[in-house]
Amino acid sequence: MSKTLETDICILGGGIAGLWLNARLRGLGYSTLLIERGALGGGQSGKSQGIIHGGTKYALHGKLTAASESIAGMPNRWRASLQGDGELDLRGVRLLSEHHYLWSPGSLISNLAGFFASKALRGKVDAVKGKDLPEVFANPSFRGKVYRLAELVIDVPDAVRRLSELAGDSLVSDSAPQIERRDDGSINAVRINGHQIKAQRYVLTAGEGNEALLQDWGVSQPAMQRRPLQMVLVKGPNLPPLYAHCLGSSPKPRMTITTHPCADGQWCWYLGGELAEQGVHLTPDALVSKAQQELKELLPWVDLANCQWTTLPVNRAEPAQSGLVRPDTAYLQPVQNVLVSWPTKLALAPDLSDQAVSQLQSQGIRPSLNDDYSGLPRPQLAAPAWDICFP
Ligand code: FAD
Repeated sequence: MSKTLETDICILGGGIAGLWLNARLRGLGYSTLLIERGALGGGQSGKSQGIIHGGTKYALHGKLTAASESIAGMPNRWRASLQGDGELDLRGVRLLSEHHYLWSPGSLISNLAGFFASKALRGKVDAVKGKDLPEVFANPSFRGKVYRLAELVIDVPDAVRRLSELAGDSLVSDSAPQIERRDDGSINAVRINGHQIKAQRYVLTAGEGNEALLQDWGVSQPAMQRRPLQMVLVKGPNLPPLYAHCLGSSPKPRMTITTHPCADGQWCWYLGGELAEQGVHLTPDALVSKAQQELKELLPWVDLANCQWTTLPVNRAEPAQSGLVRPDTAYLQPVQNVLVSWPTKLALAPDLSDQAVSQLQSQGIRPSLNDDYSGLPRPQLAAPAWDICFP
């Protein structure tokens, strides 16, 4: 039977941004309904590398930028939540690595001496040697330098699972939610499965899906941009754990490697960075060959003989900026009775929720409604990319 459901905040999109905000708002006493059109975490979040950046990557030019400063507090925010001392209780979520690393394969580090010596980075970047080196570099053939960053790497599908637990009965699945618009351009309600959801405020956290939602609603600003990537996945039974940016000759990492557990007990190296940015122009086979050559050059002692290889095309969705530059912070823009947002990084989900809470408070939106949401169809959790990408 069709009915009208009332809630304080209706969130569209169940990636890291929507799920984190949903849990945070519930913790503050707001009633919420989060509508997901596919599977929770099935967008960029579940395909991300899980690095909780502190901004070091953006400081490779030799000076800290606005991006690195705004993001610098995020590792501690996440760490506190993972330990049960933060704004959300994420105890039990799998931490894949206590640290992410920077690794220079050769003499290049000398060009970056200023960067490593900079006062702003003191305490955030430590050179590591000998027994402190990650296992993969503890090989007599390794000649480069390794730096440990104050950044962590989480198992994103596991974080999504935990955030969905914190959501209680606020999650609802609908493959095509419809926006109902009032004459003044604000949102009147969202229609799902024949029900109407009415909220004090609506939040768009649908990632790439925000574009179609904004179109459906009839709003042209803010506009969205896509940054296409083609990631490479390597799966094998004996891959050593590796969480590192490999430095190249440009300020962007030549390759960023993270390691993820597969359901069949094997491990998957997930390769991003410039390899994935430049790889969008290559066929999957050509990109795999390039990745194989790169790894042979960088880590020739690692045995990749029995590994499976594949690629994953995926877009980053961000607010439009001239020249496709990387946005600096989580983005949140109020439009009528709606907040339109893109975190721009997984790591910035707490920052996005700060901005949303502060907007709601400044607009005088307080917790006030409490409907019964039981019995609504619940979205599934997305399967990890490394479990479904291999043929
Ligand atoms: P998404 O995760 O894309 O979630 C949006 C959700 O909305 C999806 O579940 C989708 O199904 C749903 N949806 C879409 N349309 C609708 C609709 N009409 N109605 C309802 N629901 C809808 N960031 C980091 O900080 N660290 C990293 O290591 C990192 N690595 C990355 C690697 C890759 C390959 C990529 C692509 C991104 C990476 N990022 C990383 C960026 C990060 O993943 C994203 O910024 C972040 O996950 C975006 O989260 P989101 O919740 O906004 O979007």
